[in-house]
Amino acid sequence: MIPFIDLKTQYQALKPQIQKRIDDVLEHGQYIMGPEVRELEIRLEAYTGARHCITCASGTEALLMSLMALGVGPGDEVITTSFTFAATAEMIVLLGAKPVFVDVEPDTCNLNVAAIEAKITPRTRAIMPVSLYGQVADMNEINAVAARHGNIPVIEDSAQSFGADYEGRKSCNLSTLGCTSFFPSKPLGCYGDGGAIFTNDDELAQACREIRVHGQSRRYVHTRVGLGGRMDTLQCAVVLAKLERFEWEIERRLEIGALYNATLDRFGITRVAQRQGRNSVFAQYTVFVDARDAVQGKLKEAGIPTAVHYPIPLNMQPAYAHLCCADCTPIAAELAQRVMSLPMHADLSAPEVERIALELSKAIG
Ligand SMILES: *Cc1c(COP(=O)(O)O)cnc(C)c1O
Repeated sequence: MIPFIDLKTQYQALKPQIQKRIDDVLEHGQYIMGPEVRELEIRLEAYTGARHCITCASGTEALLMSLMALGVGPGDEVITTSFTFAATAEMIVLLGAKPVFVDVEPDTCNLNVAAIEAKITPRTRAIMPVSLYGQVADMNEINAVAARHGNIPVIEDSAQSFGADYEGRKSCNLSTLGCTSFFPSKPLGCYGDGGAIFTNDDELAQACREIRVHGQSRRYVHTRVGLGGRMDTLQCAVVLAKLERFEWEIERRLEIGALYNATLDRFGITRVAQRQGRNSVFAQYTVFVDARDAVQGKLKEAGIPTAVHYPIPLNMQPAYAHLCCADCTPIAAELAQRVMSLPMHADLSAPEVERIALELSKAIG
């Protein structure tokens, strides 16, 4: 079986660095907000070019804390995509606000900017695009729409796109706030839960830092309502060790993505489109197929695991259906039937990619 993602090989390659980093934490014993937390934030600020990085407990928490920092609450609306992981809309609903779903582009699966303007109302408090599968959404155009309507804040859900390029800039540093995840299977993962918020706005950064520790501006001075949203020192140490190989891994992902593109094109298999001037980090490498269940079954028999991101758009999920019409994102509904992700990780070899493409062409046959 070819691994869908390969964290074991990555660990073997980084074992001394990871163990050293973990040992250091065990020795100094500052498990909460230890020195590795700020060290990681400084590294990620330099990497993305953002003025502020605030690490937090998960990608989900990053979205929640960002929305809280903006003051999103009951009666507010947040424009987002239905074709994403649940956390994107979930945090909006958790705060009593309403997710307003806009449909996606049929080729990139990212938010369709042309459909945003019609959904803006006086209650719109934020726009939250997702940089799906590791390719940045149309952030310039989204920022422009937001600016035209009284500077609506824009939150990039970059849980899948940390490390991706967008016209020479980095994902996470393209809008009011950027939120990423260090869930183990993301392009930059830790060994548990972790996440980070990025912003160039000093006040929002301060708000996020306070929210992360129960709204404290100083010890036991609770200026606002917050939560326990810190990232563990140990997890920050793991990410610091993984950064040593990250640039190489991104290069490999780009090479493997390009090889997939060329090989699948040869077989006439359609795939998620990639826009000029953007380097996807391929959190997922995703193709479009018909009769997906059968294709997945045949590939499994051939030793090739696949996955579906995502089988049901959020507006059609039981928990969210009442918030939105079931058929308001028809393109997302159709894509949900046809998307299928193939193995993708930095240690995938060229012959493995060739074999996957060949087996896929046979399965589609
Ligand atoms: C993974 C993911 C999240 C949530 O991140 P966690 O760290 O698992 O909480 C949010 N949005 C998207 C698009 C994701 O892929």
